[in-house]
Amino acid sequence: PTPDPATGAAVKAADRAHVFHSWSAQDLIDPLAVAGAEGSYFWDYDGNRYLDFTSGLVFTNIGYQHPEVVAAIQEQAAKMTTFAPAFAVEARSEAARLIAERTPGDLDKIFFTNAGADAVEHATRMARLHTGRPKVLSAYRSYHGGTQQAVNLTGDPRRWPSDSGSAGVVHFWAPFLYRSRFYAETEEQECARALEHLETTIAFEGPGTIAAVILETIPGTAGIMIPPPGYLAGVREICDRHGIVFILDEVMAGFGRTGEWFAADLSGVVPDLMTFAKGVNSGYVPLGGVAISPEIADTFATRPYPGGLTYSGHPLACGAAVATLDVMAREGIVENAKHLGETVLGPTLATFAERHPSVGEVRGTGMFWALELVKDRETREPLVPYNASAATNAPMAAFAAAAKKNGLWPFINMNRTHVVPPCNITEPELKEGLAALDAALTTADEFTTS
Ligand code: PLP
Repeated sequence: PTPDPATGAAVKAADRAHVFHSWSAQDLIDPLAVAGAEGSYFWDYDGNRYLDFTSGLVFTNIGYQHPEVVAAIQEQAAKMTTFAPAFAVEARSEAARLIAERTPGDLDKIFFTNAGADAVEHATRMARLHTGRPKVLSAYRSYHGGTQQAVNLTGDPRRWPSDSGSAGVVHFWAPFLYRSRFYAETEEQECARALEHLETTIAFEGPGTIAAVILETIPGTAGIMIPPPGYLAGVREICDRHGIVFILDEVMAGFGRTGEWFAADLSGVVPDLMTFAKGVNSGYVPLGGVAISPEIADTFATRPYPGGLTYSGHPLACGAAVATLDVMAREGIVENAKHLGETVLGPTLATFAERHPSVGEVRGTGMFWALELVKDRETREPLVPYNASAATNAPMAAFAAAAKKNGLWPFINMNRTHVVPPCNITEPELKEGLAALDAALTTADEFTTS
């Protein structure tokens, strides 16, 4: 398409005048005006094109504007754009069937929400009503969404301004060997000590007061920390022993991101409730939900579930999910994520760790990777402080600017860059992005002290 800077300027001006942006000081941001997107790329009105290593906010698992999904949305719009949630409609029934077919174990009932945060709200509500207990345990280094309960469950600084202190949330440490809270030197030690810590937290909080433990199967925004072997199974066992509902949040890790349909498939652990959103339809139309075990569904068999949404199971969003799941299966998109993760992305990032002094650790699976950027590989001091201010974030800002100059849009969170491209990225595209990332890391290297 022919770039049109004048349109871009108008788009930007209206944005600055009227759009109030998420998580931002409104006068300190400078949003790029985006003219279009296709596949793994997007472009602005000034002729700059970017390879998207962020998948939006880690949701475009099938890339932008997949023609078959766009056509299916158009068809669904022509057939039935919307309908109230109390009715049985084809797109909703079919989406629920296809999702239930893929979810782990016996999670066969689907409650649809508009996105991830409200899926977390409803999962925790279900757990509290099912158990009759008030508290929910969640991990530091986690993100569960921006609504009141979900942000209180979140274990990062985005929670602080909204902390109500009375939401019945207790935080604990999940395993993360690179920055171990347990003085562990091996995955085995980290796993055993993290499980002992959870067990002790439960004992001191009172097992009979705890409705649920919620964990991201693989924490996403907080740093893509794959739990050590045995950890999720251990949490499952602890929850079973105390009658606690185990909720896995697969909003970011689900639907192909890890090279499996769900991250839970990597460990074989089946939760009681599983939240999803994002990749279910690649965010083409907002959709999220909770997959529910028979036992919890039973609680609401004859007793009404006290919760709902006007747009629960919105036909247009569900139609997009049906088409997305269909395309993912037909094009082998989950397999692509696994294959390129194993053969290109993982091995190439490992060479960055060898060559770039700023790369402290590389970790991930499928199309779900994080690079921990550090000042010093010995001390593991982060390249920027935890929750850095604009004044202390200069090294990460310089790294991001270098990547963008090379045509790569990077995902940045604190001292990390996450490599989370669309799951259907091609090998040449992936290699192009990795070359740009490699070059940008030399900028990060300049801020190291070792
Ligand atoms: N849970 C996890 C693991 C997430 O990564 C996110 C969003 O990034 C959410 C919940 C919240 O989802 P949403 O922004 O769709 O409300």
